[in-house]
Amino acid sequence: MTKIKNNKPVLVTGANGYIASWIVKKLLQKNLTIHACVRGVKNKNKTQHLLDLTKNNKGKVILFETDLLEEGSYDKAMTGCELVFHTASPFKMKTKNPKKDFIEPALKGTKNILKSATKIKSVKRVVLTSSCAAMYADAIDTIKTPKKKLTEDVWNTKATEKYQPYSYSKTIAEKEAWEISKKQKKWDLVVINPSLVFGPSINTKNNTSGTMEILEMMTNGSMKIGAPKSGVGVVDVRDVAEAHIKAGFTPSAKGRYITSAHNTDFLEISRLLIPKYGNKIPLPKKAIPKWFLFLFGSMFDKVFSRSFVLNNVNIPFNADNSKIKKELNMKFKPIKKTMEDSIESLIKSGLIIIKK
Ligand code: NDP
Repeated sequence: MTKIKNNKPVLVTGANGYIASWIVKKLLQKNLTIHACVRGVKNKNKTQHLLDLTKNNKGKVILFETDLLEEGSYDKAMTGCELVFHTASPFKMKTKNPKKDFIEPALKGTKNILKSATKIKSVKRVVLTSSCAAMYADAIDTIKTPKKKLTEDVWNTKATEKYQPYSYSKTIAEKEAWEISKKQKKWDLVVINPSLVFGPSINTKNNTSGTMEILEMMTNGSMKIGAPKSGVGVVDVRDVAEAHIKAGFTPSAKGRYITSAHNTDFLEISRLLIPKYGNKIPLPKKAIPKWFLFLFGSMFDKVFSRSFVLNNVNIPFNADNSKIKKELNMKFKPIKKTMEDSIESLIKSGLIIIKK
């Protein structure tokens, strides 16, 4: 049981990010002071939206220049904080150098943050943003589990540096976090494992999350011939932020929490948007056949490798979100609202130009 006081500053790593910006917003609504750790604090495209959030409440944002790869980089920002939200970790669909771009920052960053948490006296709880990707590599893994669904005791055993390196980076970083947490008693670790996150951006000018790459693929016409019916979990970014707040401030919060609202697939996601946007945006309207993707998937920027197609297309995703609902009283938004708000946010930011 760890009780976090409501009058101490709270640290957020990667505070400018897509998910973290919503965490900052919710912390400000609690009138807290946020030690917002950002790489490149002088870059207004990364920070102005955070400062703008302080306009309508008593909370404060104090910016700190930090880097996951530099040891001790977070010490100053952590001083005086009881609660640390560690969200920073690169999430992109593709990279040419997975070791440098995903694995090193995820693993080294987690080690650095937790080393500081052990060193800095005030820290009592760390909430780590992991991912369902630390639990499974392919949709087929979610239904091949003992309970035929993902639960908090399942780990991703298939991802490697070469196959799904982002998932690998999240798996080894979360494993390391549990190992480090076991070696001390000063702070406790609570882990949020979101599935694929959609919903509006607070920073409409500069959202670099992999979520945007997926939304772009779905809306820019490159999937006009069809979407793969591959199973995936979806959750709203505002609910993911709320899950972090509940994990931080609920004394009894413990262990990992699957934070996934809906078991769905890419075609179903697109079909939800068709009534409102079907005539204005080149959304995929039908399923792209598995055999086609198997033969020509590499044309789609290597996103659909043959193993990916075999183990995901026409295969359902199944995750059990009962732990977070029961222990943290979590409620999730309807998927249609999440997806429509994602599109409205892209329109507002000029990333989608709709036909009138
Ligand atoms: P963003 O890209 O918006 O956020 C990632 C953050 O990590 C950015 O602030 C980024 O800073 C920071 N970061 C990356 N490398 C470094 C570094 N070397 N030093 C300091 N900061 C760094 O993505 P999301 O908001 O989507 O992701 C946030 C977290 O949520 C990640 O841990 C991700 O794995 C996890 N997640 C995301 C999901 C999703 O669908 N979006 C699903 C499940 C988990 P900078 O802007 O400077 O690059």
